[in-house]
Amino acid sequence: MAIIKLTSRIKVMERKPMSFMERIYLPAVFKGMAITLSHLFKKKTTISYPEQKRPMSDVFRGLHILKRDENGAERCTACGLCALACPAEAITMTAAERKAGEQLLYREEKYAAVYEINMLRCIFCGLCEEACPKAAIFLQNDVMAPPSFERGDFIYGKDRLVEPFPQI
Ligand code: SF4
Ligand code: SF4
Repeated sequence: MAIIKLTSRIKVMERKPMSFMERIYLPAVFKGMAITLSHLFKKKTTISYPEQKRPMSDVFRGLHILKRDENGAERCTACGLCALACPAEAITMTAAERKAGEQLLYREEKYAAVYEINMLRCIFCGLCEEACPKAAIFLQNDVMAPPSFERGDFIYGKDRLVEPFPQI
């Protein structure tokens, strides 16, 4: 009998001699192999992401999209409210003024010359979407940021955020 003192309490362990079957280890090896083999024929609980994708929940919040209005102009006016509302400080932008003449086409004087979201900081809370007075930013419920080994790939600029121009 061995007495092991772990803390102030004493644990008493009884050392039993191994049986013949336990000493040859083979039954335990076969039992382990049987468990492994049985898993080969079970339905997999994992998928090979990103090649395979599962349907998302309706309330899933994924990658952002910057929307255009009915004329195809960007809705975002670079007011900065989304960046203010963002608890993760994931949004940065640079506002710029439209040139004379452009305002007729775009109606808004300001636009985001630079708009970036750091997806590594983003917690996909959706507060930017709620804060936007122009209904310009939305979190898509069927797209997530693809994996990458490069940090820079997770900085999403306008080239990847703005909704594609509508096809005429
Ligand atoms: S979803 Fe939340 S964390 Fe992500 S950019 Fe919007 S406000 Fe910031
Ligand atoms: S996305 Fe909306 S809240 Fe953010 S800067 Fe543009 S208009 Fe303002």
